[in-house]
Amino acid sequence: MTEFDYLCIGGGSGGIASANRAASHGAKVALVEAKAIGGTCVNVGCVPKKAMWFGAQVAEAVKLYAPDYGFDLSVNKFDWQTLVDSREAYIQRIHGSYDRVLGNNDIHRIQGFARFVDANTVEVEGRQYRAKHILVATGGRPVWPDVPGAEYGIDSDGFFALKEQPKRVLVVGAGYIAVELAGVMHALGSDTHLAVRYDKVLRGFDPVLSDTLMELMDGEGPRLHTYSEVVRVDKLKDGSLEAHFSSGGSLRMDCLIWAIGREPANNDLGLDKAGVALDDNGYIKVDKFQNTNVPGIYAVGDNTGQLELTPVAVKAGRLLSERLFNNQSQAHMDYETVPTVIFSHPPIGTIGLTEPQAIEKFGQTNVKVYHSSFAAMYTALTRHRQVTRMKLICAGPQETVVGLHGIGHGMDEILQGFGVAIKMGATKADFDACVAIHPTSAEEFVTMR
Ligand code: FAD
Ligand code: NDP
Repeated sequence: MTEFDYLCIGGGSGGIASANRAASHGAKVALVEAKAIGGTCVNVGCVPKKAMWFGAQVAEAVKLYAPDYGFDLSVNKFDWQTLVDSREAYIQRIHGSYDRVLGNNDIHRIQGFARFVDANTVEVEGRQYRAKHILVATGGRPVWPDVPGAEYGIDSDGFFALKEQPKRVLVVGAGYIAVELAGVMHALGSDTHLAVRYDKVLRGFDPVLSDTLMELMDGEGPRLHTYSEVVRVDKLKDGSLEAHFSSGGSLRMDCLIWAIGREPANNDLGLDKAGVALDDNGYIKVDKFQNTNVPGIYAVGDNTGQLELTPVAVKAGRLLSERLFNNQSQAHMDYETVPTVIFSHPPIGTIGLTEPQAIEKFGQTNVKVYHSSFAAMYTALTRHRQVTRMKLICAGPQETVVGLHGIGHGMDEILQGFGVAIKMGATKADFDACVAIHPTSAEEFVTMR
């Protein structure tokens, strides 16, 4: 039996961040990881996704924009495996950096799958470990549909394991992962289709984002199939797949990617032995301090049913350690007004309330909305002009900016700074008081009338 001050189950975004912060305050810390260090984000999430997205950006620059900038290029081929190799080598370097930091912090590493024995004891590979404080940061995993032939498809983990680029691909789903992967595959040259159950992608987002993305898909691809829930998948004799839609139609492809949501990885952990309560969807119930119902057991990240974003898990993990090991008794994560980017084509940046949410909260007469629509200059010089749309949602007599949404070239990098302003409670007048940077897309946010 080995004793620690703090034992973190899950070496992903939340677990690593919390473990390092606790150790920096002198705690004796152990970190248990069943698979690869870095968790979803580093191995099968943000990082490999962004690498593929950058690859797709290069493809678009070469195919769509280079000619009108005067480059007469001929591309011999695109080699999928080279991109994958570069991506995986980068991930290896991240693993190395995590190993170094955890080592420098004297964090005891335990490889294997952890299960609770009781509220203070965890077992990994037959050995037991005790700790006064235990963090459960086990993340999530992809959801699979219950339809015949579902097993012929792959999920986002499977996408990152692809050895070859599929010629024809169907992505099923309507959220972050579906639009991101469909955009990447399309830009890299696969014949890409995206099937959604209802009328649009990104239904929960501000309408300017989902409507513009669909308008762009209509003109540039990937091919969007609305009202097309997949009800059956057949594997054909030539190895290809045929997906049958609720609408009655069907589509043949080489690869089908399920991107229909994620679920918490909380089962099989023995949480019942520790007495930790879950909600109806299997997420660990936590209060605003990340406390579970059992004293000494905490949870952060995707397994808590909060915003499923890496910086959210990281911040929640670090603040928890500040509270537990640095006397910051009130430290806790603020889940309000979190900026987020969807790496679609073009990217989306969004923070705060959507227009419908603002109207519901403040009333129609107390909400003022500012818009801007223009062709991003990078594309405007070329025959592939692409629209950028931006929107500010202001509330009350002060016109406090309660929502900021944009889709277009560069939106992924534009959002962060505006996130600071909105978090500080900036008003439209504060935005107007900031001198524009010209010529950029971002300047539109401070010049809207
Ligand atoms: P994870 O990072 O999933 O870590 C949990 C870890 O716990 C895993 O390594 C797992 O192996 C381990 N584990 C589970 N059970 C046990 C056990 N019993 N014992 C030991 N170890 C265990 N977020 C962004 O902010 N930006 C993005 O661009 C972005 N892109 C994404 C793209 C994809 C395709 C996906 C799937 C997700 C993406 N996300 C993105 C979301 C982000 O990856 C997650 O929000 C984040 O990883 C959550 O961190 P976590 O610590 O809660 O869990
Ligand atoms: P999301 O929850 O974002 O989207 C999944 C969507 O799939 C649902 O909203 C639903 O939309 C649709 N869906 C559900 N069931 C079915 C079905 N049977 N058939 C067809 N469509 C279905 O999940 P993701 O898996 O895309 O991503 C999980 C989370 O990971 C995200 O919410 C985000 O927090 C995080 N993430 C963040 C990224 C980033 O920061 N850039 C990138 C990737 C992931 P509808 O109801 O409209 O059909």
